[in-house]
Amino acid sequence: MKFGSFIPKGESVVFPGRIIGDLIEQLDAKSMIEVIANQGESDAIANHPLKEVKFVAPIQLPTKIICVGLNYREHITELGHQFPSEPVIFSKPSSAIIGPGDTIILPGATSHVDYEGEVAIVIGKKGLNIENPKAHIFGYTCFNDVTARDIQRISQDWTRAKGFDTFAPMGPAISTERPKWIMTHLNGKRVQHSSTSDMIFGFEELVKNISRVMTLLPGDIIATGTPLGVGKLKENDKISVEADGIGMLENLVADEKST
Ligand code: MG
Repeated sequence: MKFGSFIPKGESVVFPGRIIGDLIEQLDAKSMIEVIANQGESDAIANHPLKEVKFVAPIQLPTKIICVGLNYREHITELGHQFPSEPVIFSKPSSAIIGPGDTIILPGATSHVDYEGEVAIVIGKKGLNIENPKAHIFGYTCFNDVTARDIQRISQDWTRAKGFDTFAPMGPAISTERPKWIMTHLNGKRVQHSSTSDMIFGFEELVKNISRVMTLLPGDIIATGTPLGVGKLKENDKISVEADGIGMLENLVADEKST
């Protein structure tokens, strides 16, 4: 099953939807978080052709975005880091969220911004100290953990480097099927491609581990780390993150100085 948040043609309001073939059903709920809390079983109240809607970030305002650093073996080797014995976690503010087709803005405070294509878990059910993580995962979406690498290198915390507005593109849809691969294209050239089995800490292990710290709520996002091949973004680039079953999250890049 696939779900997405969308704006119908000629309207300005965001609705949660369920994708069936080339249609999207508009669901009887205030938001995707409500649909998720209802296990995706909200009633359909209208149908729209997929090509006539604009997809936005599937979750507009999660209570939190937790990101996992250093989780793909080949990427850790690329950065020259040690393999972590426990997941490295940090958070991004929800104000950083943008959707498919939106523009990543390169802030004036940095001269080196990288893309990091990732699969993100969408939490389905509230839980603390979760023992049965599978039951708490609603689905998966594509995520770009955009990072000001120069700021990350000089700063103890990663939140500053990763928390700028527009630094959390996600979407286009939520798939309830677990993706087997993740791929990133920069200006049409493939720059990242990995099996999700290269992750040190798998999807369920991450949910268990993070729920030892904090209560996870429906709609919360856990970005699970990036594979080998991160690289720099520049003005006018087109960056896309794709995973099987989810679709392609495509964003353009603009410079704050030129906007
Ligand atoms: Mg990352």
